[in-house]
Amino acid sequence: MAAPKVAVVGAGVIGLSTALCITEACPSCSVTVLSDQFSPNTTSDVAAGMLIPHTYPGTPIHVQKQWFKETFTYLFAISNSAEAAEAGIHLVSGWQVFKSTPKQELPFWSDVVLGFRSMSEAELQKFPQHRFGQAFTTLKCDCPPYLLWLKKRLKATGVQMYTRKVADLWELHREYNVVVNCAGIGAHQLVGDEKLFPVRGQVLKVHAPWVKNFIRDGDGLTYIYPGIHRVTLGGTREKDIWNLSADPGTTQDIFDRCCSLEPSLQEARDIKVKVGLRPSRQSVRLQREDLSQGGFKLPVVHNYGHGAGGFSVHRGTAKEAARLVQECIAALKSSSSRAKL
Ligand code: FAD
Repeated sequence: MAAPKVAVVGAGVIGLSTALCITEACPSCSVTVLSDQFSPNTTSDVAAGMLIPHTYPGTPIHVQKQWFKETFTYLFAISNSAEAAEAGIHLVSGWQVFKSTPKQELPFWSDVVLGFRSMSEAELQKFPQHRFGQAFTTLKCDCPPYLLWLKKRLKATGVQMYTRKVADLWELHREYNVVVNCAGIGAHQLVGDEKLFPVRGQVLKVHAPWVKNFIRDGDGLTYIYPGIHRVTLGGTREKDIWNLSADPGTTQDIFDRCCSLEPSLQEARDIKVKVGLRPSRQSVRLQREDLSQGGFKLPVVHNYGHGAGGFSVHRGTAKEAARLVQECIAALKSSSSRAKL
């Protein structure tokens, strides 16, 4: 069999990181990324990019923890390298605060982030409406720079990238041996997945360079995440809403909620509003499927449905998708050598 041809559909953080893991796991593969949008026009560009996991109710916790750990370890190494600034990866410390003590005081990811501990009384004094809090250090991706960095790595390994809207994965069966579906919310239409739904998120990106620590309300709805150049203020979670237009009333509400956590934000300048649709599911769809029509087969690997936590687990799920691609290629090789006998 000649160099296996692999197409990755989608150029958000999931598609680009999956393409990179495939080139690492299968250096003899010829990898192509096909996407109707690239950075800065993907959901991944809107995200805050904080490594604080979202929980997928349909996925075992030990699997989610493994995905998070692999992602954290990978990005921690980048943050400690000369690549950090270009990749937009940095460590950030801060607080997650609660109005009452949560049922689960130790989240499953508490021993993956750095220095996780309960907040001291002195720290809690900064948040008079809150009774309990956790302090830790985690990583943050500045999303557009990270996507550009991934693209640069892919180009350096010879990966081709084309702007193309795929109407049906089957249309790729003549050109490619394996197709990887990383279409995010686009998979709703592309593969008709009714279990996939949008959770609309609106955020503000502001200039407030004095804000150095992250602050997250324990319900996950209000947050202040400082990046290298701008601070992300959030947010909203609106299930089944497909509208990508910013709502001015919501902008004011987000700004007010964030100012009540960090009053100095009243001085924030240059407010930009962004909206994205989280590709949400009970569990990430990370599996093989063999499509077949008229005696032809097309092995597909799905890797989509990362909801509110795509950045937090992207490297872990990309590695698993690359392993599934290797399985597909091994199966193709063994069936082509059987056919020659
Ligand atoms: P996308 O970025 O949407 O990429 C999908 C790609 O597929 C796009 O390139 C699209 O053009 C392409 N595509 C779709 N359909 C087709 C088709 N038919 N043909 C060709 N191409 C197609 N996660 C975190 O971990 N931490 C955070 O702090 C965080 N904050 C967030 C804040 C907000 C406001 C939002 C909206 C999300 C946030 N997320 C966060 C979640 C994160 O953004 C997503 O989980 C992640 O971006 C999903 O990546 P993706 O590559 O699957 O999707």
